[in-house]
Amino acid sequence: MVVIGEGENVVPPLFEKLVNGEDFEGVVYGDVVDVQAMPNILGGTVGGVVEVARGCGRGCKFCVPTLQRFRCRPLQDIVEEIRVNVRDGQTNITLHAEDILRYKANGVHVQPEAVKELFSAAKNVEGVKNVGPSHFALASVVEKPSLLKELSEIMEVGSKEKPWLSGQTGVETGSPRMIELNMPGKVKPFKPEEWPEIVEQAFAICQDSLWVPCGTLVLGLPGETEEDVYATLELMERLKPYKSIIVPLFFVPVGGLKESRGFGVKDMKRCHWELILACWDHGMRWAEELAIEYVGRMPWLARKYVLGFMRKVVHHMAGKARKEILRMMEETSKR
Ligand code: SF4
Repeated sequence: MVVIGEGENVVPPLFEKLVNGEDFEGVVYGDVVDVQAMPNILGGTVGGVVEVARGCGRGCKFCVPTLQRFRCRPLQDIVEEIRVNVRDGQTNITLHAEDILRYKANGVHVQPEAVKELFSAAKNVEGVKNVGPSHFALASVVEKPSLLKELSEIMEVGSKEKPWLSGQTGVETGSPRMIELNMPGKVKPFKPEEWPEIVEQAFAICQDSLWVPCGTLVLGLPGETEEDVYATLELMERLKPYKSIIVPLFFVPVGGLKESRGFGVKDMKRCHWELILACWDHGMRWAEELAIEYVGRMPWLARKYVLGFMRKVVHHMAGKARKEILRMMEETSKR
């Protein structure tokens, strides 16, 4: 049995059928659920994840969450779920939304007071040690450039125990043409042609505010040309000074583009391998610094062991992986 979409309305009748030994459908599609119909969790969650909002509304064509209507849960329900997590021993809380900065937003427009209230309320739940976001949007960062720093102050980020906050964010491409074609809403309230500038500004704001973006890129989007990939490579060059991890992903035909052709290793051209290499070098450049900061809170011996492992084993494997990327790049050039 597979349930696609939201489960609240469709899962209980399915279980009823199961318990009564009745026939049931193999694939069931859940509809959009009102906030009032979302029950609070009864036990702690993996990673202390607490749902803050559902849906997105920015409308990227390759994305599934965008198919759901954007809804924010009431603060009292969120706080209650944090309490449940703390009760079950989960004191590091991840606030989940497709863009945490749009909690109680007015369309795409960030409402800073609501976001600050959310983080304050989460932090003030007795027993909570850490609160972080699952995802945030770069356009929201730039729309309210002082908000990240204010959130870091609320969370008392910057100590040895809490050197930074981190969350996932979509960079996707450095090509305004790809943005226009596949995800114009991602940039709002800005314009597609401003995207590379928005990304760099957002990364700079993150750096100043002690947030570490874990960005994703999408390779092989419908309509992509070599020029688009080189535009993303140019953006990678601009992002070099900013502490971050950037992960390249292959386009998968889902959401509004589910009829399109997917992208795989066999479709990769030299430019794609160059982009993979740029992401790899960027990640390795920052991974060591992030690891040093992350293990800063550990006892001396554990810290020494982890960093020793990182410097010997990880560096060795990273060197081998880099050589393999270069080999694939050369091989692809000969085709
Ligand atoms: S901004 Fe992110 S979550 Fe929203 S539609 Fe685009 S890819 Fe999906």
